[in-house]
Amino acid sequence: MIDISALEFHYPAGEFRLSVPAFTVAAGEKVAVIGPSGSGKTTLLNLIAGILVPAAGSVVVGEETVSALGDAARRDHRITSVGFVFQDFELLDYLSVFDNIVHPYRITGALRLDGPVRERARELAGKMGIGVYLDRHPDELSQGERQRAAICRALLPGPKLILADEATGNLDPVNKERILDLLFAAVEEHGASLLAVTHDHELLPRFDRVVDFHDFRREERS
Ligand code: ADP
Ligand code: MG
Repeated sequence: MIDISALEFHYPAGEFRLSVPAFTVAAGEKVAVIGPSGSGKTTLLNLIAGILVPAAGSVVVGEETVSALGDAARRDHRITSVGFVFQDFELLDYLSVFDNIVHPYRITGALRLDGPVRERARELAGKMGIGVYLDRHPDELSQGERQRAAICRALLPGPKLILADEATGNLDPVNKERILDLLFAAVEEHGASLLAVTHDHELLPRFDRVVDFHDFRREERS
């Protein structure tokens, strides 16, 4: 599902360099990424999503060589094929929760917002326990409810890859377990792969594999 080779990346400013000689995630695999703050975990997710473009090397997601696509195709690919749950949710406060969840359908011609999609959005929100909040705005929800709305938005297009950046970082332990249960259930139901950055070591046994960002980078460099 993910196949990275000889990837090199640096931001226009600053000293940070990311080198990933090889990294793969299989279809249906659930992989946790751990590592210290500033080690490049978010950068890696952004490269996989096609939000950032490597200076060298390739990033393949499913059938698509994301790193070789032009801007517009890369954006469409990201919106349709990758479900991204951001560290800070990135919900739009001026839209209702429902409109946030269907937002991907409004920003690309590659997805069509029709009756069945709206129905699925309501169903998914119900499953996630936020069905009664669809007419509210994100700033009227708790942290955990906002997180669930962000997860619904990521899942609705049925992506085969879910990227989650510290998705449970701001939640209390009960909500954390509950949201992870929902996320894993949805990922399994879709047969999707999950790549999740987390600081919660107690959550790691739930994943098929754990990649320690530092070890991984050192190991694959040698
Ligand atoms: P992590 O998610 O592991 O905490 P990040 O991927 O966010 O790490 O950041 C890795 C490094 O890249 C950090 O040193 C950070 O300061 C730097 N960085 C992040 N974004 C930018 C940017 N837009 N421009 C320059 N440097 C950046
Ligand atoms: Mg980060």
